[in-house]
Amino acid sequence: QNQLSDRINKLETSATLAMAAKTRELKAEGKNIIGLSLGEPDFNTPDFIKEAAIQAINDNYNSYTPVDGYDELKQAIINKFKRDNRLTYDKSQIVVSTGAKQCLANVAMVCINPGDEVILPCPYWVSYNDIVKIAEGVPVEVPTTIETDFKMTPDQLEAAITPKTKMLWFSSPCNPSGMLYNKEELRALADVLKKYPDIIVVSDEIYEHINFVGGHVSIAEFEDMYDRTVTVNGVSKAFAMTGWRIGYIGAPTHIARACNKIQGQFTSGANCIAQRATIAALEAPVSKISFMIDTFKERRKLILDLLSEVPGFKCNAPQGAFYVFPDVSELFGKSFRGKTIKNATDLSMYLLEEAEVATVTGEAFGDANCIRLSYAASEKEITQAIQQIKAALS
Ligand code: PLP
Repeated sequence: QNQLSDRINKLETSATLAMAAKTRELKAEGKNIIGLSLGEPDFNTPDFIKEAAIQAINDNYNSYTPVDGYDELKQAIINKFKRDNRLTYDKSQIVVSTGAKQCLANVAMVCINPGDEVILPCPYWVSYNDIVKIAEGVPVEVPTTIETDFKMTPDQLEAAITPKTKMLWFSSPCNPSGMLYNKEELRALADVLKKYPDIIVVSDEIYEHINFVGGHVSIAEFEDMYDRTVTVNGVSKAFAMTGWRIGYIGAPTHIARACNKIQGQFTSGANCIAQRATIAALEAPVSKISFMIDTFKERRKLILDLLSEVPGFKCNAPQGAFYVFPDVSELFGKSFRGKTIKNATDLSMYLLEEAEVATVTGEAFGDANCIRLSYAASEKEITQAIQQIKAALS
């Protein structure tokens, strides 16, 4: 233990890992666990992207790439930002990394000094908190509830700001809640930030295309936010490319160059074949991936209909991503076979053991009242899983 750094020893073991370990254990005992815990599409990467990768191998793309990404890929990203987000970047503002996760890690390492505060509206994506801590920042959690669709209000933002606030990080559409901020709501948050020009915003838009109501808005579209916003995106979710590990940022030049510098020391850049494949993904019209979004939309309806009959599960209708995040606090205090369900983690464990369905506790996302169910699963699995949950809770 003392061979390890304080940095790693201080880091808590993630709640999702504990769940994954328990799932493995039960599977080894021969149980047929239905997995609604995963944050990845259950589709194959579309053929036109796979073909671009095969072509790249045959064309001998095998050398180190520029640290911040191939020029052609950066151009494809610039065109994508223009086409989908009305954002104008030049190549000095783009950095391609090994997944959006590395984009976030880079940004944290280059922007956060020890003790700097980073505002995280809850629920947040599980890694935000730990990435901020690794960079020796202090996460400042702003709780939201299902009653307000898990949206942080301008007043809450204002109240969370202190002289130490360095950044605000959020995802819209949100993992885990599926909430997305509309233009007015983002403008109202931006109005608060007007008074604090040094706060940098990280806008994680990786679920941009998985949006069931339309109208994705990037906060950087507002002129007064452009110079202080890092827009994070990637191909994992919309293009079913989680394992390819490509993410990218559009950012103020000094932040992008700093990310380039740190990445140059840590990884030398993202995988060359995956970068070539990403050019094909981003150059394709969005209509090429709409079949996946349509499928998610149908599954969303299915899971919401089924969950409406589960006692103790309070759901709202998520507008994007592929998760539902029911408030299950009504079930706290109930017990079964001598075990009391005190919180979301207990309930998630109970559902794993008794319903044989893997979910994720909301505590992993900074919300102890909810659990996350992913509907990136087949209709058959979703139907079976919710039936089993209902039976276990009855
Ligand atoms: N941001 C959010 C909100 C996510 O849900 C995820 C993946 O689950 C990521 C970033 C990381 O994506 P990537 O696979 O590009 O590292």
